[in-house]
Amino acid sequence: MWPRCGRDLDELLFPGLSSLVVEELALADAVVRVRARSAGAEAPCPSCGTRSRRVHAWQLRHLSDLPVAGRPMAVELRVRRLVCTGRTCPQRTFREQVPLLAARYARRTVRLTGMIGQTAVRLAGRAGSAVLGLLGVTVSRSTVLRTLMTLPLPETTSPVPPVLSVDDVALCRGRRYMTMVIARARPRLRGAAHRTAR
Ligand SMILES: [Zn+2]
Repeated sequence: MWPRCGRDLDELLFPGLSSLVVEELALADAVVRVRARSAGAEAPCPSCGTRSRRVHAWQLRHLSDLPVAGRPMAVELRVRRLVCTGRTCPQRTFREQVPLLAARYARRTVRLTGMIGQTAVRLAGRAGSAVLGLLGVTVSRSTVLRTLMTLPLPETTSPVPPVLSVDDVALCRGRRYMTMVIARARPRLRGAAHRTAR
């Protein structure tokens, strides 16, 4: 007999949601819908750091999360607007954040944004959007490229050339081209990418 996983299985299937109270899980219109709410712990005021659990109001956030079994997952999250009890704080209320789940104002979870970003690094816009669509993530190629642009540049140990030159070479005129990146100060090829004519 297999051991009962309980909380561990929740964490495996819904990482980031395990700190919340999941109230409802349903499959509707081919979308896995999760309704969750804040667990009610104290949260720090972003202005003064005073911790509070005094509720002013509840607010809804709608987030897209990683697909489950090829189906998109939509999270309807109820979070609290809390009263800051700091005596000198200019901010009277603030919305609690769930940083492990989603960035402030984000419409996608951290892990879904990570998946889009890693796909963009390897496939860029059009191909990235197509592959993500097969996996159950519907995003435009513009969104894929925007996500790519937000990623930090990889660290490199080699010095960055002060001047770069970019040139196109026709491998088969009208059909196949190559883009070259050349360091002008010490002329040598830094990179090349093949592409077809459009
Ligand atoms: Zn405050």
